[in-house]
Amino acid sequence: MLLSRFPRVSLAHLPTPLEHLPRLSEHLGGPHIYVKRDDCTGLATGGNKTRKLEFSMAAALQQGADTIVTVGAVQSNHVRQTAAAACKLGLRCEVLLEHRIDEPSDDYLNSGNVLLDRIYGANIREYPDGTDFDAAMQTVADDVNTAGGKAYIIPGGASNHIGALGYVNCAIELLSQANDSGLVIDHIVTATGSAGTQGGLVVGLKAMNANIPLLGIGVNAPQDKQEQKVFDLACETADYIGAPGVVERADVVANCDYVGDGYGIPTEAMNEAVILLARLEGLLFDPVYSGKALAGLIDLVRKGHFDAANNIIFLHTGGSAALFAYASQLKTD
Ligand SMILES: *Cc1c(COP(=O)(O)O)cnc(C)c1O
Repeated sequence: MLLSRFPRVSLAHLPTPLEHLPRLSEHLGGPHIYVKRDDCTGLATGGNKTRKLEFSMAAALQQGADTIVTVGAVQSNHVRQTAAAACKLGLRCEVLLEHRIDEPSDDYLNSGNVLLDRIYGANIREYPDGTDFDAAMQTVADDVNTAGGKAYIIPGGASNHIGALGYVNCAIELLSQANDSGLVIDHIVTATGSAGTQGGLVVGLKAMNANIPLLGIGVNAPQDKQEQKVFDLACETADYIGAPGVVERADVVANCDYVGDGYGIPTEAMNEAVILLARLEGLLFDPVYSGKALAGLIDLVRKGHFDAANNIIFLHTGGSAALFAYASQLKTD
């Protein structure tokens, strides 16, 4: 598993810190909870997409692209980080935004991530929920190419076998931090959406024989669909790095009990988790991904799912820029 075989550009501040959360751990009465700070990757307020984009953007440059085409929800953290990476590399960025929320607030439509997309000068096109985005992105790419440019399509969340390399690399980084500091990791928990984060992590962990269970907490799809999506991407990624068959279906576990009414729709438990972590640890999580995943972690701890002596790593995937888009929906008292 030698990731230096694959083209990569440097975009993220790495390694991201691994921090203990003593006040949260005490508040919950154990286990020992640590946070892997991928909210501190540095680019455009940080987040997990930056690790993936180190590989996706390098692939685009290698193909001679001058324009990136990508897709996300209106408040996509992926789009925000891609728009910033494109600026840094001198590329244009064509963005397709999907309207997934009914009756969005003015903040949702104009603040948070979409404000940053505009600051980065991305060319934004808006589409209704359920659009065929593979076809729509191809159309945009064809138009770019017809006009004399060279387009490169990065799929939603940069979640293909190329972007997932960023999280294979994160698994290597995390194990080396644990080894150097003498930390025995019993569980890793992360939000899971377009699957590149969990898919890449599971490949890295399995290829290194880490023997650490990984739990994805879903924010969108039901469990069977989410697990299959992660497994399929993990298999493709394992093939790509020359470790075919390293991930078994049973290695992919998702809990999708914390989605609530749907993607991007706030839940009470998310709101509680965001407020709790802010006030106990000074950390910011987001309403769509990391806040719901954290709500899942907190609920599982309260239900006794983990041993009180366990060391649990929660991968903080970022997203706090979206808090501003949810200003009118978050309860702060
Ligand atoms: C995209 C995203 C996720 C989910 O990661 P995937 O690789 O899409 O599964 C989690 N948290 C945040 C903040 C994100 O932006």
